[in-house]
Amino acid sequence: MSPLSVLIVGAGPAGLMAACELARRGLSFRVVDKKAGPTDLTNAAAVHARTLEIFAHVGIAERLVAAGQKWTAMTVRSGRKAAVHLPLDRIDSSFGGSLLVPQSVTERLLETRLTELGGRVEWLSEVLTVEQDAKGVRVSLTTPSGVEVVESAWLIACDGLHSLVRSQVGIEVEGEDIESRYLVCDVALSSTRSPREVVAYAGDGSILGLFPLGDHLYRAIGNLTDPDATKAVVETEIRSLIEARSFGEFEVDEVKWSSPFWIHSKMAKHLRSGRIFLAGDAAHVHSPAGGQGMNTGIQDVYNLSWKLALVTAGHAPESLLESYEAERRPVIRSIVHGTEALTKMALSKSRLRRWLRVAVMGWLNSQPRILGKIAARLTQLSLGYRGSPLLLSQKGVRGLRPGDRAPDVVWRSTSLYEALGDQVHTVLIFSGLEPRKGDAERIQALEKRLQTRFSPLVRFVRVEPKETGRLGILVDEDGQAHLRYGLPKGGLAIVRPDQYLSFLAVRWSESEVEKSLEVALGSCLAVPVQR
Ligand SMILES: Cc1cc2nc3c(=O)[nH]c(=O)nc-3n(C[C@H](O)[C@H](O)[C@H](O)COP(=O)(O)OP(=O)(O)OC[C@H]3O[C@@H](n4cnc5c(N)ncnc54)[C@H](O)[C@@H]3O)c2cc1C
Repeated sequence: MSPLSVLIVGAGPAGLMAACELARRGLSFRVVDKKAGPTDLTNAAAVHARTLEIFAHVGIAERLVAAGQKWTAMTVRSGRKAAVHLPLDRIDSSFGGSLLVPQSVTERLLETRLTELGGRVEWLSEVLTVEQDAKGVRVSLTTPSGVEVVESAWLIACDGLHSLVRSQVGIEVEGEDIESRYLVCDVALSSTRSPREVVAYAGDGSILGLFPLGDHLYRAIGNLTDPDATKAVVETEIRSLIEARSFGEFEVDEVKWSSPFWIHSKMAKHLRSGRIFLAGDAAHVHSPAGGQGMNTGIQDVYNLSWKLALVTAGHAPESLLESYEAERRPVIRSIVHGTEALTKMALSKSRLRRWLRVAVMGWLNSQPRILGKIAARLTQLSLGYRGSPLLLSQKGVRGLRPGDRAPDVVWRSTSLYEALGDQVHTVLIFSGLEPRKGDAERIQALEKRLQTRFSPLVRFVRVEPKETGRLGILVDEDGQAHLRYGLPKGGLAIVRPDQYLSFLAVRWSESEVEKSLEVALGSCLAVPVQR
C-alpha cells in the first residue's frame, strides 16, 4: 500500500480544514491546489457558532473571533412594515452567536495553523487525472517542477463547484439553478442599525441581505432585476438598489468591490466512490441564504477525518467510513432544500405567498421557542445524525437523543468541551446530584471491562457534583451538566470525537454500553485490523 495515507485536492476552506484535521490526528497527507495561494475575497463571510466550536478544537477560534465581527441578531423585513427579529445571542453555545469575517481571513488562519502543525499547501499544483483500484488512488499532477504521479490510500476531493475529481469518478449531481441573476459586493454603509445585526429585506420579487463586517464595511447580496445587466451598469445600480430596498435605513458611502453571480442548488448523488470522498462545494452548492456553504464543507471534513484516522491506524474496519455518506448526505439535503425554499419564498412575486410571508413573520415574533429553534438551525447547532448507522439505540433522555450534538457546559475554570477534547470517544459517567453509595463498584467494573476492550480508543470522565480530590473527575458546579443532559439522578453518555452523542441513558448495563461503543466505532475490534 502507498505510504501516503491521504491526498487532499483543493485548498479552499474545506481542503485547508481537512489538512489541519489530518495533521492533528497524525496522518500522512499532501494537500495540493492549482491556485497560487489562498483567496483574497470576502466570499463566505458567515462563520456559524457550530463551526466556531470546531475551530476551538483546531486552535483558531480565538484568533478568528478577534479578527471578525460578532453576529448576535438577524432581522428579516418583508416590505416596509413587517419584520421578524431573530436573536442569536441566546443559542446553546459558549460563543453566544455567530461571526462575520471575510473568507480570506478564515483561509489565512487555517493555512497558518496548518504550518504550525507541520503541514503545508502545495500551491500551483493541478490535478489532471484520477484513477483508483481496491488498494489505492493514483493521480497525475502538474507542479511548478513538472508532471508528477502521486499515489495515496485515500483521496478527499475539496476541489469546489466544478470538481474535476467528481466528474472523473463519475458521481452525478442532482438539483437545479435558481433563475435570477445576483450581485455580491463589499460596501461601506452608514446606518443607525446595530453593527452586530444582519438585515435582510424581501420585497416584491427582490431580496437584499446586508452582513456587517466591522468598520462600516458590509457584505451585500441581492438579486438584479435586469438579468442582462453588464458589470458597468451593475456598479451604478448598487447605490440605488441598497438604498431603495432598505427603505433608506442604509446609505452607501463607497462600493469597494462587486461581482455578479448565479445561485446553484445542487448536491452530489454520492459522497464516496471507493477510496475517494467528496467534501465542501464539490459535494454541495446552495443559495447563500443563511451563509451555510462554507460551514457545511467544514462540518463534512470534521465528520470524515476522525473516521479516516481510526481506519488508517488500523483501529477500526473500513466499514466505519460508510457512515460518512450516511450521516452527511441527509444534513446536506436538508440545507440545500431549506436554503432553496427560503430563497424562492423571499423572491416570490405571488400576492398569496407575500401575504403568507407577512402573516408568518407576525406570528413568529410571539413564538420565542420556535425562534430559538430557527436560531439553532441557522447556526448549525441543531444539525445532527439521529439516523446514523453508528447508533445502537435511538432512545434518549428528555428531548436529547443519540445522534444529537452533545451540549457544551461552561464552568468558571473550564468547559465540558475542553474536558472532552476531540481525539477519542469519551464515556461520561454522571454520578447524580446526590451520588448513591454502591454505584462506585459498578462503575469501576464497567471502566475495567471497557478499558480491556477499547483502550486507547476510549476515555472515561466521571462527572460529580463535588470535588473529591480523585483524578479524572469533572466537578459539575451547580449541577449544570447533570441537568443539561437530563441526568440529575445519574446516568451515562458516550460522546464521539466530533461531539455527537452515541449513547445516552439513565439506566445502563455493561453489555449495552460495550455494544454501543462497538457500533459507534464501526464494529471496532480491540486489536488493530490486520491488512
Ligand atoms: C460571492 C460568494 C459569497 C458566498 N457567501 C457565503 C457565506 O456567506 N457563507 C458561506 O458559508 N458560504 C458562502 N459562499 C460559499 C463559499 O465561498 C464556498 O462554500 C466555499 O468557498 C467552499 O469551500 P471549498 O473549500 O469547498 O471550495 P472552494 O473554496 O471553491 O475551493 C476549491 C479549491 O480547489 C482548487 N481546485 C479546483 N480544481 C483543482 C484541481 N484540479 N487541482 C487542484 N486544485 C483544484 C481551487 O483552486 C480552489 O482553491 C459564498 C460564495 C461566493 C462565491
